[in-house]
Amino acid sequence: MKLAGINVYNIDVPSVLQYKLASATVTHLQSTVVELITDSGLVGFGETCPAGPVYQPQHMLGARAALQEIGPSLIGLDPRNIGQLNRAMNAALNGSRYAKAAIDIAGWDIAGKAYNRRVCDLIGGATGDTIPTYYSVTTASPDEMAREARERQQEGYARVQLKIGGRDVEEDIETLHKVKEAIKPGLRVAADANRSLTSRDAMFLSHRCRDISMVIEQPCNTVEEIAAVRHQLCHPVYMDELAEDVNSVIRAVSGGLVDGFGLKLTRLGGISALQIARDICEARSLPHTCDDSWGGDIIAAACVHVGATVAPSRFEGSWIAAHYIGRHFDEQNPVRIQGGRIGVPTGPGLGVTPDRNQLGSPIMSFG
Ligand SMILES: [Mg+2]
Repeated sequence: MKLAGINVYNIDVPSVLQYKLASATVTHLQSTVVELITDSGLVGFGETCPAGPVYQPQHMLGARAALQEIGPSLIGLDPRNIGQLNRAMNAALNGSRYAKAAIDIAGWDIAGKAYNRRVCDLIGGATGDTIPTYYSVTTASPDEMAREARERQQEGYARVQLKIGGRDVEEDIETLHKVKEAIKPGLRVAADANRSLTSRDAMFLSHRCRDISMVIEQPCNTVEEIAAVRHQLCHPVYMDELAEDVNSVIRAVSGGLVDGFGLKLTRLGGISALQIARDICEARSLPHTCDDSWGGDIIAAACVHVGATVAPSRFEGSWIAAHYIGRHFDEQNPVRIQGGRIGVPTGPGLGVTPDRNQLGSPIMSFG
């Protein structure tokens, strides 16, 4: 089987709810969808969708420029050999893992279809038919965030992530106490600063919330700041934005820098990289998520397939953007959240196929 062509598409993914975090408010994004076409007639889809130009160094136009650079060198390869596909991408372009992730995901989609297996079956096997997700409570008043956390617990969520930072730390401390009062025991809580706290405020917040069972996610902007405050905090620390690739995960784990991770599919480099990070976490008993910062059904499906292979005792869930996006790429088999859980797609490969009407004409083609 050889790769005969690649199409790159744009799909609008407007946010129907305000998604506000410390550094940005996500409104209208454009996702980049990749279609790999083989000489056997099988096609596979991948996707990359940075959450705007500010949240991370990755951005939409950067992904498309990288795909322009990489695309031609992949024609003729067997897309089922995903290791070779990744090496060819690395030989064509340094970095830009988030663009390469779209190709990697599409390669796994083709491999699954070629072998008539779901992606999760190829990377370790699913632990069940559904997996947990968690609800991200975006920045709002303390009372509103407490109400949202309580309602999501009633809806069936086992975990909430509260966006903190980007405002007076006193308001975040008040929020966390109000959430504690509003919820019943058993709901796991993560306070996610998205890199925004000073080490001073991270210490203030942690010490004044020391009676609250929670983890603090990505409190500060740099590895050095986290290392400086880590042992002065009362809470476990998770790394998210600074887990940029497999190597940064290895470095953080081997240095004992963190107690868990928010692992992001496209930032790390796709399904291949995410499963390596998953295995590193397994070796050190570190809890983690399997998600992405944004994206449509293709990214959601890829996150769920990897998430389905994580040992439940260590799995913090797969967050997907489905709540915020007013449409599904695949209306027949959408990746949906119900009662705090997501069904693992059942078809071969990723188990989702984007609607051709939504894809429109390619914005780029190779081969
Ligand atoms: Mg996070």
